[in-house]
Amino acid sequence: MQTLTLEQETNPWEAQAARFDFAAKKLNLDQGIWKVLRYPARELIVHIPVGMDDGSIEVFTGYRVQHSVARGPAKGGIRYSPDVSLDEVRALASWMTWKCAVVNIPFGGAKGGVICDPKKMSQGELERMTRRYTAELIEFLGPEKDVPAPDMGTDEQTMAWIMDTYSMHMRQTVTAVVTGKPVNIGGSRGRKEATGRGVSVVCDEAMKHLGMSIDGCRVIIQGFGNVGSNSAKLLAQKGYTVTGIAEYDGALYNADGIDIHALIQHRQKTGTITGFTEAEAVDKHELLTYNCEILIPAATENVITSKNADRIRCKILCEGANGPTTTVADDILADKRVFIIPDILANAGGVTTSYFEWVQDRMGYFWTEDEVNQRLDNIMKESFCDVVNYARNHNVNNRIAAYMLAIDRVAYTTKQRGIYA
Ligand code: NAD
Repeated sequence: MQTLTLEQETNPWEAQAARFDFAAKKLNLDQGIWKVLRYPARELIVHIPVGMDDGSIEVFTGYRVQHSVARGPAKGGIRYSPDVSLDEVRALASWMTWKCAVVNIPFGGAKGGVICDPKKMSQGELERMTRRYTAELIEFLGPEKDVPAPDMGTDEQTMAWIMDTYSMHMRQTVTAVVTGKPVNIGGSRGRKEATGRGVSVVCDEAMKHLGMSIDGCRVIIQGFGNVGSNSAKLLAQKGYTVTGIAEYDGALYNADGIDIHALIQHRQKTGTITGFTEAEAVDKHELLTYNCEILIPAATENVITSKNADRIRCKILCEGANGPTTTVADDILADKRVFIIPDILANAGGVTTSYFEWVQDRMGYFWTEDEVNQRLDNIMKESFCDVVNYARNHNVNNRIAAYMLAIDRVAYTTKQRGIYA
């Protein structure tokens, strides 16, 4: 792995590119295809005027990056956060291409983001911003072009507004333009829990692979949003002991296991995990370094870096978030023999069930939750097996194996389709 400065280390685009280059080199990738796949196909920047509740007008900057449409329509979430940047959206778009290829579903990769603080905006302001952002991108979106989904700071309601805005422009209801919608307007059963469910399935597979027992297996999770809370809930149901939860405003620890159901209720009532009396309040940064069998970063990028990687004490690192580990940290964790389930595999349950949602919308026929979950479990198990076997056969770590498998699949299709000129 090349040496990176601290600034490069925490730049998600540089991190993505470094891993891509490493895997492409290992694959002996054709130089031309290398150049095609290294950069996104399309990057859109929009400035979105929004009438605020106090009568003023604010202008927000938004992005949509489509990295690849080689294997199918571009697919990827939309993030609302003050930290959104073009480099971050670029990286997330590329990761979506690799993720869809790892789980072998017929999508390319995209990502969107708007620089804003959704926690400080009213529902009305968020709705107006979402509708205008959609309208600015209208000709680039569509069930056969680019299909957004929720990510940090966006949810089912955001997807409903996008679907409605797109449908108004098309003069007909087009449910398949987004996934992660409410179930009554074409959402899939099981989508809300899907990423957490996928995380729990790959944890099970890793435990089997390493000959470890679920009984007494301690899990620490960073982030108690969609991915973190559903991972916690499902792992606790399976018999894992969730000993720690970290959030942006505090962290909790209980060596005997946190009652996740009670914590979800506490969070719903108070809006925070802090003040929960059945666990000890601990430092949110230090919690990541506590002893545990499984550590699940499920919040944001760059949380395991050269600054703390040497103090990480888990056996399995399961990346619920996108890009939580820097390349420098990867090398440190490799020396410590931590078994990494890389983000492009670990959190692929969400996009896999998004694929099911898109399929169901286009059929107009909806599956039961059991059918959705069963199909998801099968894909996650198969993909875990594909990555671990690839790593063994090519003598690389799981992350590089996942990249190589994905790049190989996308490169094959790109070559087969040829370059249009
Ligand atoms: P979310 O907004 O529902 O939850 C994120 C949670 O993390 C929030 O509760 C937030 O307060 C917390 N958080 C943010 N920064 C933090 C920090 N520095 N320390 C501790 N907690 C922090 O978002 P989500 O949908 O759960 O996404 C989380 C991660 O998972 C992101 O990296 C996202 O890209 C990735 N992901 C999400 C999905 C999905 O289906 N939602 C799918 C694949 C990947």
